[in-house]
Amino acid sequence: MKFDTIIIGGGMAGLSAALRLAEAGQKTLLMASGQSALHFSSGSVDLLGCDGDPRAALPAFMTANPDHPYSKVGLTSIEASLADLQRHCAEQGLSLVGQARNHARLTPLGTLKRTWLSPDTCACVTDAPIPDSLLLVTLEGFRDFHPSLAAANLAIDPRFAHCRILTGEIRLPQLAECSHHPHEFRSADIARLCDKHAAENHHVVVDLAQALNHLVLQQGEPRCRHIVLPACLSLGLVGPRLAELEQRTGCTIKEVATMPPSLIGMRMQEALKRRFITVGGTFLSSERVLGARCEGDRVIGVHSQNGDDQLFEADNFVLASGSFFSRGLESRLGGIREPIFNADVLSLEERDAWAGRRLFDQHPFMGFGVKTDNQLRVMRDGQPLLNLYGAGSVLAHYDPITEGSGSGVAVATGWHAAGQILAGH
Ligand SMILES: Cc1cc2nc3c(=O)[nH]c(=O)nc-3n(C[C@H](O)[C@H](O)[C@H](O)COP(=O)(O)OP(=O)(O)OC[C@H]3O[C@@H](n4cnc5c(N)ncnc54)[C@H](O)[C@@H]3O)c2cc1C
Repeated sequence: MKFDTIIIGGGMAGLSAALRLAEAGQKTLLMASGQSALHFSSGSVDLLGCDGDPRAALPAFMTANPDHPYSKVGLTSIEASLADLQRHCAEQGLSLVGQARNHARLTPLGTLKRTWLSPDTCACVTDAPIPDSLLLVTLEGFRDFHPSLAAANLAIDPRFAHCRILTGEIRLPQLAECSHHPHEFRSADIARLCDKHAAENHHVVVDLAQALNHLVLQQGEPRCRHIVLPACLSLGLVGPRLAELEQRTGCTIKEVATMPPSLIGMRMQEALKRRFITVGGTFLSSERVLGARCEGDRVIGVHSQNGDDQLFEADNFVLASGSFFSRGLESRLGGIREPIFNADVLSLEERDAWAGRRLFDQHPFMGFGVKTDNQLRVMRDGQPLLNLYGAGSVLAHYDPITEGSGSGVAVATGWHAAGQILAGH
């Protein structure tokens, strides 16, 4: 089987590369072994965790960090990649919004985290005024969002000093179907039930609206017009369901990403995958790449767990297999390694130096990863493999947590790697 380009990894980085290549007319294959970090992420795209406009901060950041993946991509491509991501998501009905500077998204713990783009259904603090009252609601039996904890943390933020933060719980009769685990609902369980009832024309939104209206009155704050719910009302795009709820309650209804599984991130993964298939790409899931056949400084093909007698061949390859979390990198006693190509990796010899002393310290291992040249070509034995490009969190020299740059780097490097391939480098 011969392709123009094969991408290894189905997360943000792999999909960004795949979409650009397939849209340009390349015969593109994406091979993914399993879930990506998107299944656990907020679905918001962090670019650089600074106050103000990260695009204005990036030039100085790149000068200070010449090996950073952003420095290999450049500001113009970073911006173009994010615009392309918004366009692809919009094509699938998922609107990603931002403003001229970072906004703050609400976390399930009630803290506010700076980010660049968020789905328009997410509870965020933007330049718009903070309301005088806000109701944080959960569903009875849902284990992964606790409004009183979130409210206590949110109340500490000076921006919410004037805001009355109310909390409550509603009961959804449809959840009684799952009464064998009445306190164990995960977001996906509830979403599945809501989708099932909506498909059978049962009035799940009507029941939800009634329960919310009742709760607002019960809280003694009838003028409260802003409600936040955990993201658990649909596995698919939730916009129309929230819009109907808003219409029936007269309130704005936003979602907060929950503890994993995160439906907001999963919806983005599905939207980008659908878009990739729409523009002509081939997506193979449950396809773990185990190794590669190389000739000199070129990769000829890769083989998967389904047998090394089947070689997937291509002119170019993108390695977007993620970090330790997705097993794109492996940590062993003797060091770290990249398992498919045995690429050169940045690491530290002294294992005690890998991690900081405290949980919230900076951890050097976060910056470990695959080395590339300035064109993002993966290095092996000190030389670039000429048709293998690296993208996303498999790369060295970036720390998504400390920098607040996670998906920004994934999108920008995936998109840029595709650009290098299209330019014939
Ligand atoms: C739990 C978690 C939450 C995060 N939340 C956020 C967030 O809210 N916002 C943000 O901006 N950033 C977040 N990040 C940072 C994150 O690293 C990036 O956002 C980005 O999603 C990483 O994308 P990626 O494509 O590089 O890697 P991944 O998403 O990890 O994808 C790697 C892909 O490669 C596949 N793969 C691995 N090995 C093989 C193989 N041998 N063969 C075939 N396929 C393989 C995996 O199955 C997966 O599909 C989070 C990271 C983690 C770990």
